[in-house]
Amino acid sequence: MALDRFGRKIHYLRISLTDHCNLRCIYCMPEDMTFRPNAEMMQLDEIMILARLFADLGFDKIRLTGGEPTVHPNVVSVVQGIASMPGIRSVSMTTNGVLLSKLAAPLAEAGLDRVNVSLDTLDPVKFKRMTRRGNLEEVWNGILAAEQAGLTPIKLNAVVVRGYNEEDEAGLVRLTLDHPWQVRFIEMMPFAGATALQVGQRVTEAEIRSRIEQAFGPLEVANGGELDGEARMFHIPGAQGDIGFISSVTVPFCASCARARLTADGVLRTCLLREHEINLLKPLRAGATQEDLRKMLLDALWQKPWGHGLADGEIPLNRVMSEIGG
Ligand code: SAM
Repeated sequence: MALDRFGRKIHYLRISLTDHCNLRCIYCMPEDMTFRPNAEMMQLDEIMILARLFADLGFDKIRLTGGEPTVHPNVVSVVQGIASMPGIRSVSMTTNGVLLSKLAAPLAEAGLDRVNVSLDTLDPVKFKRMTRRGNLEEVWNGILAAEQAGLTPIKLNAVVVRGYNEEDEAGLVRLTLDHPWQVRFIEMMPFAGATALQVGQRVTEAEIRSRIEQAFGPLEVANGGELDGEARMFHIPGAQGDIGFISSVTVPFCASCARARLTADGVLRTCLLREHEINLLKPLRAGATQEDLRKMLLDALWQKPWGHGLADGEIPLNRVMSEIGG
């Protein structure tokens, strides 16, 4: 079992399969983003070797992300390989949903349990403006395909950006009345590439919640007040689905963080919002043994920082969000 020096059991790994993406969301990366060459990225066998290393240390929950994980040519094989590793209890994915119409069924067949689909607005014009190229209808069809394939409960992730989609929360939340879905609002976090917008146009949980309550009345606490992953859960009385808030900036949840991240270029990041990284791919390619890698990993996890430094003005600037994996 991997523990950090504060006694947290670290058992949840997010693996970014690629830094490439078929969208260019304004809060995630710059419009002229250049992607890294494939040779610098983990190859299928390397993803499997490193994932197994984590599974052997007691990691039981894996989320595939990116970039956009569904643009990886081997995404179905990756899911299949990881889902069949001893000790893995759940494999989920965060995706923009664009390719889910085609991929939901094969991914479910391969062993994927659930998807989180990013959806910031139900207005097709605003959607295109925020993603700089996306087609809302494709994403909507992808969500329905995911539900049909049993990748449930469906969770929808929304980032609210001032000047782009504030005022659209009610439409998203209304989906929970008739669908057993979770609509989760993620507070915008600052990274390189879009820092000015991420800081200057952030909309806080308090503001989002007050607009939702003006439209629907007071929200009820859901999930017995327990976190669902990192989300605090609420409910419109009588609704089929739930509403979540993931508010790393104004309501940090570092004390309960059980996560580590493996970037597409094989680098371990023990805190999303800290620049410190440990390269695992380089030693793997240089011939490090499983035991060497295991020691490096245990050491790095032990040193996981207590929390992020946003309150002290520390902003991680060594990568843009799509190069880390949300
Ligand atoms: N391409 C996939 C997607 O769109 O879901 C997976 C990668 S994306 C980086 C993962 C999540 O991070 C998405 O839900 C996205 O909205 C969120 N995200 C991206 N940039 C963010 C930021 N600056 N602050 C908060 N969330 C962000």
